[in-house]
Amino acid sequence: MVKKRKARKPIARKITYLKYGFVITEHENHHCPRCNHVLNAGPLYQPRYCDQCGQKLTFAGIEWKEDRELGFAREGCL
Ligand SMILES: [Zn+2]
Repeated sequence: MVKKRKARKPIARKITYLKYGFVITEHENHHCPRCNHVLNAGPLYQPRYCDQCGQKLTFAGIEWKEDRELGFAREGCL
């Protein structure tokens, strides 16, 4: 008999990145609760298992946040 493994919620973490090279954008990443691998999850795609360590995942109750634009990067600061 196969033991049932408990599904765990991924960890949400905010990151900022430059969109189009100049728009400072806040984005929420979801990480595996066991190995911290970044899950490429979104409203349209939720993996059932971590592809690194096989941890079973549940996205029940997860709120998907849209990317938020925080402002523009100044010219010449890169
Ligand atoms: Zn994992």
